[in-house]
Parts: sequence; C-alpha cells; structure tokens
Amino acid sequence: MQKLKKYNEKRDFSKTSEPSPSSIHVKENDKPVFVVQRHDASRLHFDLRLEVDGVLKSWAVPKGPSLNPKDSRLAVMTEDHPLAYATFEGEIPKGEYGGGTVEIWDSGTWEPAEEYRDVEAALDNGLLEFVLHGSKLKGEFAIFKTKYKGAKDSWLLKKKKDEYAVTDAYDATKIPSK
Ligand code: MN
Repeated sequence: MQKLKKYNEKRDFSKTSEPSPSSIHVKENDKPVFVVQRHDASRLHFDLRLEVDGVLKSWAVPKGPSLNPKDSRLAVMTEDHPLAYATFEGEIPKGEYGGGTVEIWDSGTWEPAEEYRDVEAALDNGLLEFVLHGSKLKGEFAIFKTKYKGAKDSWLLKKKKDEYAVTDAYDATKIPSK
C-alpha cells in the first residue's frame, strides 16, 4: 500500500514485532477506531492515531493529550500506520526505529465533527474537529496545523469545551494505561 511506504521503509520486520503493512486486521465494528499509545522510547511520548480511509493517521504528542481546553498540546504528524497497529502493544527492540515500550493508553471509536466529514480534505487544510469515544478521552477535540515556519509537521491538539472537559491540570504521563 503506497500510503504505508514510509512506515515500511523505517522498519525491519525481521527485528520488530510491529505489524507489517500487509498484516490483516479484523475490525470489531465498522466505526473508525482511534488509539493513543504510550510510547516509552528515547523520549516518552503518546501516539495519537485516527483511522482514516484504511490507515491510521498518526501524531506523536510529547506531553500526551489533555482534557483541559486551556492546554494546546504539540502533536507532530508522523507516517501513516497500518490499521493493525491499533491493537499493537509490546517492545520495539533498542536500536530499531521507535525502540522502546508501547502500551495502549486509550482506545475506542471516533467520528469527525459535522463540518469535517471529508477528513482527508480537512487534514489537507490543516484543521480537523472530531469526537472521541474512548475510556479516558471523550468528547470534542480539535487538531490543527501550526503556522510556524519550518514546522511543517507540527500540529496542536486541544480539547474543546463540553461536558467531558476538565478544569484541573491534566497530565497524561501520570495516568496509567490500564
Ligand atoms: Mn511513537
């Protein structure tokens, strides 16, 4: 799959247990899924992945997502991942791309907000509003491209104000995966 070319090039599947681009993934329901993986690599971060058109659109979020609308969390867009990655947990060997421990921190289904039904177009335009139905992350979020020069893959992730928003400080690194 052309979309997964970068994913494939970065990895040696004889060394890592991550799913190969051709791995078959059986979905439990037909709603698009999302996952947030806690990735304890050389630098701890959280990977937000949204199912879009057969792949997982992915961002690395150094501080992790927040349920507090005052927070804007840097989210660096990374290569598309295969759908099978949504259930991946485990150890990526040291020295391999992304080496470290991956845990599923939250997962569920998601949907774009009404005005963003054409998700690919929204991402091309650099703004997507969406709703997460996870265990930890619920309600409306927005992710948008920053305008800083030289930061072409930099986005910001924000919780929108709704019944699931919190007013206290939110630190994903202090909230266990399970
Ligand atoms: Mn990662």
